[in-house]
Amino acid sequence: MTRTAEPLHVRGIILPDGERRDIWLVGDRVTFEPVRGALTVADGGFVLPGLVDAHCHLGIAPGGRPSDGVDQARSLAVVDRDAGVLAIRDAGSPIPYAQLDDDPDVPRLARAGRHVAPPKRYLKDIGVEVGEAGLNAEVARQAAAGNGWVKLVGDWIDRGVGDLAPAWDVQAMAGAVAAAHAAGARVAVHTFAEESVAALVRAGVDSVEHGTGLSEDDVAEMAARGTALVPTMINIATFGGIAAQAEEKFPGYARHMIALRDRFPAVVRAAHEAGVPIYVGSDAGGGIDHGMAAREMLLLHREAGLPAEAVLRAGSWGAREWLGFPGLVEGGLADLVVYAEDPRSDLTTLLRPQRIVLRGRVVV
Ligand SMILES: [Zn+2]
Repeated sequence: MTRTAEPLHVRGIILPDGERRDIWLVGDRVTFEPVRGALTVADGGFVLPGLVDAHCHLGIAPGGRPSDGVDQARSLAVVDRDAGVLAIRDAGSPIPYAQLDDDPDVPRLARAGRHVAPPKRYLKDIGVEVGEAGLNAEVARQAAAGNGWVKLVGDWIDRGVGDLAPAWDVQAMAGAVAAAHAAGARVAVHTFAEESVAALVRAGVDSVEHGTGLSEDDVAEMAARGTALVPTMINIATFGGIAAQAEEKFPGYARHMIALRDRFPAVVRAAHEAGVPIYVGSDAGGGIDHGMAAREMLLLHREAGLPAEAVLRAGSWGAREWLGFPGLVEGGLADLVVYAEDPRSDLTTLLRPQRIVLRGRVVV
């Protein structure tokens, strides 16, 4: 599908610089060079290169089953887009949908293949389940299925133990990280617990997802290495319900999950203060609705105490740069969202996008 976009013009306060400027969008590129005859689509307001959801799942339908197919994945992406999310990192998809990478209606996509998970422990039908023997080969396969990311499940409940436990031996997990890097992919790792995340950070993962078990030492190690943290605070808020369901059979696990939840805002704040790059992820897909990135940003501000500018970096220009989608710079990608109020002084304005342009075309 090709649709030629006419040149567009936007005037407003451009973030992060905070300068009032004119910008033009020609095809799928940004320029500060005036373009004659361009259509003005916004005049006034505050302009961001869109929001980013750096951890969600387009391949998991509401309720937790794999999405029906590419059309459902597209419709979930459109929910995000219409909330101002113009770049997505899919942190594990049970269905392939590589054809959406260049779909003009779909936000920019950074994708992992399927979750790589241990046998019979992870969510049913979501991950590809593999033991230690096949782990590195599967990681290489999933690196090829994604477009730059591999998702590892680092820990999950072990019903035999009655608590969270590493998915594989920690040496095997370190080997899997190396295998992903050898295949040219970055590694995102799901962790809730303490032991797995400590080993995986030191094995050189690129991003810690959730990270409720991070210690002060782990945080210092991440800061030194430049390892990112995607806290998914919306997900962590569901730990109370998970614990309540598990309480009868697995009381130790239930207590552990509550303790992890309760310490988490301080962990996120400490990571920010130590200089760990933090990015916004809603963990939409399954039990969490799409279109929630702005809500996650409010939680990072209100619960973890991150300053508004840090939250904006985490959920907009900083996350785009991290994922390889340049923002509102000369030659950058033609994505932007305009808000009526200054999100630096009131993040709730992010819930009310006034104008959305994706790939040089007006969406809203
Ligand atoms: Zn997830």
